[in-house]
Amino acid sequence: MEIPKYVKEVLAALEAAGHEAWCVGGCVRDSLLGRTPEDWDVTSSALPEETLAIFGSRAFPTGLKHGTVTVKTSGGPVEVTTFRVDGAYHDHRRPDSVSFTCSVDEDLGRRDFTINAMALNLRGELRDPFRGQEDLKLHLLRCVGDPDRRFQEDALRILRGLRFSAVLDLEEERETGAAIGRNRLLLADIAPERIRVELLKLLCGSNAGWVLESYPAVFGVFWPELLPMVGFDQRNIHHCYDVWQHSLLAMTRTPPIPVLRCAALLHDVGKPSAFTLDESGVGHFYGHAKASVALADAMLRRLKCSNEFRERAVRLVEWHDRDIPRTDKGVRRALRALGEEDLRLLLALKRADNLAQAPAYHGRQAEIQKGEEILDRLLEEEACFSLKQLAVSGRDLLALGLSGPALGEMLDRLLNQVVDGELPNDRAALLAAAGEAGVTRKLRRKPKMP
Ligand code: ATP
Ligand code: MG
Repeated sequence: MEIPKYVKEVLAALEAAGHEAWCVGGCVRDSLLGRTPEDWDVTSSALPEETLAIFGSRAFPTGLKHGTVTVKTSGGPVEVTTFRVDGAYHDHRRPDSVSFTCSVDEDLGRRDFTINAMALNLRGELRDPFRGQEDLKLHLLRCVGDPDRRFQEDALRILRGLRFSAVLDLEEERETGAAIGRNRLLLADIAPERIRVELLKLLCGSNAGWVLESYPAVFGVFWPELLPMVGFDQRNIHHCYDVWQHSLLAMTRTPPIPVLRCAALLHDVGKPSAFTLDESGVGHFYGHAKASVALADAMLRRLKCSNEFRERAVRLVEWHDRDIPRTDKGVRRALRALGEEDLRLLLALKRADNLAQAPAYHGRQAEIQKGEEILDRLLEEEACFSLKQLAVSGRDLLALGLSGPALGEMLDRLLNQVVDGELPNDRAALLAAAGEAGVTRKLRRKPKMP
């Protein structure tokens, strides 16, 4: 992948003013892999004030303390950071101080992994003092320098590293892997928001199942609720995997959508606490979905997920154990409760959950397929499943004399009747039904005392 023109212009302007300028980090790694980089970062010998002067009104001092200036370009913002080395670390999070240097190699030396410690300039020269290109070819995740020291400086690197393994399909070099395990407890010092960002990217990686299976204790630092799943024998013919393996298999069989992957990982997290064994030695998990809901909710709150994200994930966990809707009415009800997007996610979760059971029970796939076909047809027919689509509105009911909570209740009731096929979604029919119901309600109301 070529350096895009808008980034080349930034590099060229810095060089024209007599400075060194390189693309650096993730963008170099991704372009060597033929992946499209998320953003293009530039590192330069220019001091922040010099960068500000070169780009004038297009430059914004977004992180001067760390030497970062953001340059607005036609292709989007480009971050230009002065070559720097980090001072001592005391809190396992960030350096106490940073200082600028004239050497790009020194700047590369402060970076976390060899694959992230490469720089590329305008003429296509690659600086790669830690042999990151070779590690990329070997699919190896390796710290720059001593892994224990690097994870002790900034414990988030533990999770960043596993994120790169999951997304780029890497294996941890032996020392790096061992240090990840040894230093995992330091993750307790990292802000939950930063953990969440890395975790959600990790869960969407093609290699996420393998990473979670290899390092459960790392994830157990912030989500100890996961640990009872590991090795938990289900003692049931439906299952040939333990709860942890089953959850990981289900997760990797869902499309890489963060809320769905989260729900898949957590859908059975309540199973160990719901386990019972019957007299013939068969395991059961009655009420496990409810137990999973409570745990998943607490886990997602802990990582400060948005309310919307948490509620969606938890709803998927809650619904995962319900019967697959296979009738028009059932699918319309599910649509009413979940909306199209989340119902599709639920069906994807059901598919994956079933595929992660013993092969003899994969027959469920046909039922899920049927549910999907009904869903597609109902959507094509523009079936009514939300208040927005209902042929009468609140205003119509106001005109009938309804107001306040009674009005909302009536709308809900009409929608339920339409969803259940008891009324057509037809204005006249709905108004007639509302009028009738309203009148009977009024008649039933006790007369006021004089
Ligand atoms: P992404 O594809 O998610 O953007 P990235 O590797 O580019 O991945 P960024 O957070 O954009 O990640 O960081 C850019 C570069 O800065 C990294 O490639 C790495 O060289 C360096 N870097 C980022 N975070 C750290 C860290 N915690 N410790 C050391 N170096 C880091
Ligand atoms: Mg990046």
